[in-house]
Amino acid sequence: MAQRLDGKKLAAEFENHLLREIEIGLSKGIRPPGLAVIRIGDDPASEVYVSNKEKACARVGIASYGLHLSAKSSESDVIAKIYELNSKELVDGILLQLPLPRGLKESSLLSAIDPNKDADGLHSQNLGRLLKGEPGPRSCTPAGVMALLANNQVDLEGKRAVVVGRSILVGQPMALMLQAANATVTIAHSRTKDLESLTRLADVLVVAAGCPRMIGANHVKPGAVVVDVGIHRISSSSLGMENQSRSHLCGDVCAEEVAPLASFITPVPGGVGPMTVTMLLVNTVSMWQQHCGLSCTLEDLLP
Ligand code: NAD
Repeated sequence: MAQRLDGKKLAAEFENHLLREIEIGLSKGIRPPGLAVIRIGDDPASEVYVSNKEKACARVGIASYGLHLSAKSSESDVIAKIYELNSKELVDGILLQLPLPRGLKESSLLSAIDPNKDADGLHSQNLGRLLKGEPGPRSCTPAGVMALLANNQVDLEGKRAVVVGRSILVGQPMALMLQAANATVTIAHSRTKDLESLTRLADVLVVAAGCPRMIGANHVKPGAVVVDVGIHRISSSSLGMENQSRSHLCGDVCAEEVAPLASFITPVPGGVGPMTVTMLLVNTVSMWQQHCGLSCTLEDLLP
């Protein structure tokens, strides 16, 4: 039976580490780190995600500045707000909550964020830094996956890794990070033929396709490390559960089929999700250390 890659536990350990780093800065008379979170429109899932991020900031001592804009905001309205935050000294990190309402272009808004305040690591300059192996804020979800693997002594050197999904948010930076850790990486996507025979070759399988329970026992090599990035709320009836009025969280992996085969598996919830939030805090505190002229002590937490 697979060992759990416990993201909740590791996230709590990282938070303690961040708390101490912030205390050291404050003891030197430095201001606290600041994260501005921009939410546009009223997507209920985004509201929950933003609230979780703000609570996490409060736990470690990061000041969070919430900005809630109307779904009718124009691109230039939002860019003007981003420029204001770029120039605010108290703000070390800026996060634009995705997805955006229809009509707003993700790429132009993300490009407006100062790359040195890019808390989500999604600015083209930071994706370029990742590609070239230069330091910089890293995309939070794949960085969280790398931290989970490293802290559970999963050796990636020479291993065959398959990433299912090629989004800029998860799949692409994930593949780059695994490659930088000397894995041999293949990316699968919605047009990949015969997914099963590809994923069955993987020593490390990272699934970020956004399709509930699409990866079953047939997709997994015995002993593989399986990382489930997907997160979905589905009705209990579609899982064949007794209390059909309730809903449940599940991932892209059919955990009950895959766990008996795999060596490690991330649970959903409690695996990749908490690590994503924690890496947002790590990026923010790391940028704060740079902005305030403190020595950067968090490099070991970032891939
Ligand atoms: P996305 O929709 O932008 O990208 C999905 C990718 O999967 C695409 O590249 C697509 O080609 C590929 N794909 C879709 N169906 C496929 C199939 N049948 N076979 C192979 N490839 C397929 O999604 P995303 O933003 O990358 O997110 C993926 C999932 O991860 C979603 O469920 C999302 O909610 C979740 N997510 C979780 C966290 C977290 O913190 N846990 C963070 C980000 C995203």
